[in-house]
Amino acid sequence: MSSPAVPDSSPSTTALHMCPLCEAGCGLSVQLVDGEPSLIRGDRDDVFSHGFLCPKGTALKALQNDPDRLRRPLIKRDGAFVEVDFVEAFAEVDRLFKPVVSEHGPLSCGLVIGNPTVHRTGLVLYALDLAAAIGSPNVFSAASLDQMPKHLSVGRMFGDFYSIPVPDIERTDLLVIIGANPMVSNGSMWSVPDFRGKAKALRARGGRIVTVDPRFTETSKVADHHHHIRPGTDAMFLAAIVRVLFDEGLADPGLVAEHLVGVDAVRKAVEPFDLDEVSRRCGVAAADMRSLARQLASARAAAVYGRLGTCLQQHATVTSWLIDVINILTGNLDQPGGAMFAKPPAFAANTAGPPGRGEGVSTGSYSSRVSGAPEVMNQFPIACLAEEIETPGQGQIHGLVMIASNVALSSPDGPRVERALAKLDALVCLDPYLNETTRHADVIIPGPSALEEAHFDVFFANFAHRNVARYSPPAIPKPPGVPDDWETMVRLIGIFSEMGPKVDVVALDDDLTRRSIESSAPGQGGDIMEALAPRVGADRRIDLGLRTGPYGDLLGLNPDGLCLDKVMAKPSGVDLGPLESRLPEILRTPSGKVELAPADFVDALSGVVDDISREQPECVLIGRRHLRSNNSWMHNLPILMKGKARCTLLVHPNDANSWKLVDGGVAKVTALSTDAAIAVTVEFDDAMMPGVVSLPHGWGHDGNDTKASVASQNPGVNFNVLADPNRRDALSGNAALNGISVTVRMVRRPSDE
Ligand code: SF4
Repeated sequence: MSSPAVPDSSPSTTALHMCPLCEAGCGLSVQLVDGEPSLIRGDRDDVFSHGFLCPKGTALKALQNDPDRLRRPLIKRDGAFVEVDFVEAFAEVDRLFKPVVSEHGPLSCGLVIGNPTVHRTGLVLYALDLAAAIGSPNVFSAASLDQMPKHLSVGRMFGDFYSIPVPDIERTDLLVIIGANPMVSNGSMWSVPDFRGKAKALRARGGRIVTVDPRFTETSKVADHHHHIRPGTDAMFLAAIVRVLFDEGLADPGLVAEHLVGVDAVRKAVEPFDLDEVSRRCGVAAADMRSLARQLASARAAAVYGRLGTCLQQHATVTSWLIDVINILTGNLDQPGGAMFAKPPAFAANTAGPPGRGEGVSTGSYSSRVSGAPEVMNQFPIACLAEEIETPGQGQIHGLVMIASNVALSSPDGPRVERALAKLDALVCLDPYLNETTRHADVIIPGPSALEEAHFDVFFANFAHRNVARYSPPAIPKPPGVPDDWETMVRLIGIFSEMGPKVDVVALDDDLTRRSIESSAPGQGGDIMEALAPRVGADRRIDLGLRTGPYGDLLGLNPDGLCLDKVMAKPSGVDLGPLESRLPEILRTPSGKVELAPADFVDALSGVVDDISREQPECVLIGRRHLRSNNSWMHNLPILMKGKARCTLLVHPNDANSWKLVDGGVAKVTALSTDAAIAVTVEFDDAMMPGVVSLPHGWGHDGNDTKASVASQNPGVNFNVLADPNRRDALSGNAALNGISVTVRMVRRPSDE
């Protein structure tokens, strides 16, 4: 309907495109022969990634050609899926949800937003509109599986859930990485393509990298020092470092001091964290913790960065908070080479409204029906999804819209989630695959492929190591009849707004966008819509975001500023420069200060103190990720599945001896709290901390009723069978997927096979 111009599809042309698979957002150069992708390389001129790409970017060609990828919708008829056109699919959604809403009300519906949603511009820009149209508090997202603690901690400290400081890697002298593996991820909540190259440059100019992790990771291999730490003890480790800073008179926030409140409260809160006691529990030598505190305080510029491992534990919000407490107390927040805030070109709340003060963030304005879990960012923990479907009563979920989410593999207790999904009266999934979750759907609606859809990063510019603005038109045209993502979203919004499946998508989009403009600029909706014409859909929203953003042309008032046309004219992106100090302008707290000691975070430290004397379990399980995996998907592409099997249980050889395991044999791993068990191949690896075993997540492709011929030949096992949905970070509701107490027992030797 309104797709941007696509490249000429005559033989052998090149199209530039951003890789939408992860937040590194590498610029791609896609060689097309007869309009088909023949080779994908990094775009050397890309202002952000400078030619870097990882194997997944190259594999977009295989994804494009994967015969198992859905091109047309599927609807279930008499228990079996049949292919239909998009018109029939939307009619079926309407037919299924009408009785759910009329019989049980809108509260009986729900929305699940999976991780790839944020990598699809048309989906993410309309997700809030869809949630509003569904009209239910039952909104869940992948954020509560991996990152909610960080959103909450920075929300309280700086006043916006997305004001996340990231290491200024190109100017830092000391980078401390806790529970993160950017050599594999190229940054997560820190967009940093080619981490390897940047780490090498950091060390070449005399800087140092320190990793802290229960596993000697791929990132540890390019670091100067590594400290093994017991899973779940990061908060006490960090609190002990904060105490050293105070005890030794090293706490000096520097230029940030005048924008800070709560220093004394933090000083008092960390008093119980005795270095020797913490050391006994977390496994890091007291001398090493003391040394790290001194190094961070004395470095010319340093940054502490924590990621997935720090978010998947029961004290996750406190852990995320203490990371930034250290950045602040060592004078490294908001300083070149320290932990800095990006300034996104569009869609950032911390560039909107009056600078320096705001309403801050709140949570818990309502709670989930069954567990009473407080909402955070207007959503409930995804670990509560199954109980909300299973438990009868007012508000029980009977119908669900699921966007790009494979909850059967990604959520705690996947088998229970699957049983719950099977009970729904209506389940519609927007997804390119018939997988372990979508097999329970009544309707599956695919979208254009990653190369067929325009791309603009809506969120990740908030965490970028450098400010840029980039937009990719589709690299290749989508097949006739396939709606853009935004069109699918608007049609669903029409269905849930009782306008039916044949709603005029452009007219409804006009209405939605005008209302959104009016809510922030009353009385100006008409004029602004006119200024944005003739664009519609996602592109109109991107243009609006850019033009009213911090670098924007202000709809004509600042003629030199950015608009979508100007960004499109630079296919390799517009460089907006290195990160710059943003305090106090970035703050949106009611006090207009950095809140160093939010009361509930300080209170939660008492639970961490209690853990210091708690007995260490004999064996705990943690996850890990791999460069060739992307959570639960991309396992159906042969090019990414090459090499040795990687869904293995890593075990330190000493533990393996004690537990009588055999390398290459199959072991039974049993969760102590639930008795759930899986059988998995054992791999000896002295990278593991003794007492800790590791298994990647996103596997368990059993092949039953799915369409994933490659993945089902390499199924792996589902990590999350072992995860207890009730084990969560109390403040954020994030699932505590790491640090699961398990036993490991041999069940089959390689020689038995
Ligand atoms: S790191 Fe890989 S998956 Fe991520 S954006 Fe770059 S090429 Fe794509």
